[in-house]
Amino acid sequence: MQFCRAHSLDEALELLGQWGGDGCLLAGGTDVMVQYNSGAITPGAFIHIEGIEPLSAISINGRTTLGALNTHAKLAADGDIASRHPAVARAARLVGGWQTQTVGTVGGNLCNGSPAADLAPPLLIADAHVTLTSLNGERRLPLDDFFIDRRATARRPDELLTLIDLDPVPPRGGEHYVKLGRRGAMDVAIVGLAARLGLGDDGNIAFARVAVCSVTATPRRIREVEAALVGVPLEAGAFAAAGQALVAAVSPIDDARATASYRRRVLPGLLERAVLRCGEDIRP
Ligand SMILES: Cc1cc2nc3c(=O)[nH]c(=O)nc-3n(C[C@H](O)[C@H](O)[C@H](O)COP(=O)(O)OP(=O)(O)OC[C@H]3O[C@@H](n4cnc5c(N)ncnc54)[C@H](O)[C@@H]3O)c2cc1C
Repeated sequence: MQFCRAHSLDEALELLGQWGGDGCLLAGGTDVMVQYNSGAITPGAFIHIEGIEPLSAISINGRTTLGALNTHAKLAADGDIASRHPAVARAARLVGGWQTQTVGTVGGNLCNGSPAADLAPPLLIADAHVTLTSLNGERRLPLDDFFIDRRATARRPDELLTLIDLDPVPPRGGEHYVKLGRRGAMDVAIVGLAARLGLGDDGNIAFARVAVCSVTATPRRIREVEAALVGVPLEAGAFAAAGQALVAAVSPIDDARATASYRRRVLPGLLERAVLRCGEDIRP
């Protein structure tokens, strides 16, 4: 097994082109090292990309663009992310403990393809798109289309996820991420749910985005719930139909963390909590 350190994007792409599917990108290593130590992966080479500085940038030009190597700690602490993407900042604060947040990256979180990726729901509700780069050029696709199945993404073996771009919270809008876990901030989600809302002139919900993780085989938006929320007043007790739509739209996973029926039971309450919390941030 070889360890190759890439000092630039070009170098990383050349190494990826050279090793193909036998090369394993290593960003923070918080997923990769666990998988390598357990024998789940046996790559011919690790391609270490952590030091490629330009991929740790955050830029704002209408949409927000995140380099894939931004760590959870940086996303949790950045002022622009806190004001434009509070659900992203909150999810980043809830990934593992501080050690994991210090080195774990947003790109690694998405490319690992886990159903429980905490950053996925807040990015999905912000209409995030990912840019995948290889020696053959770039392609940009909606994050919704990036997740294919459990542990399977649309990334080709010679591609590196370089950028993620996303929409800020709309005017008269708010967003929130709720994470149900056994041991609070240190644990992977039993269920994660992000909601983003915008209010219309009548004060009712005019725009809604809802996405979940640790519920289905991949993190995903639940469009049936989004439709059920539109026109509903933002007040406790008004979301029963949306909660039912949520439960009807998913066929939850059954795993070591929780049964499918437990997940079904908690989903409506988590939806209501996230939606009401969105409302607290909306200025009249
Ligand atoms: C103790 C512990 C607690 C954790 N808790 C949580 C939690 O609460 N919530 C949660 O969501 N996750 C959790 N994780 C999982 C992990 O920390 C996150 O998924 C993290 O964001 C992974 O980022 P990384 O940079 O360490 O990825 P790595 O381990 O370096 O890589 C992960 C995968 O992505 C690929 N990859 C990485 N970067 C790129 C890129 N730019 N382009 C293409 N492919 C790439 C790698 O080849 C690998 O397949 C936890 C892990 C540990 C060890």
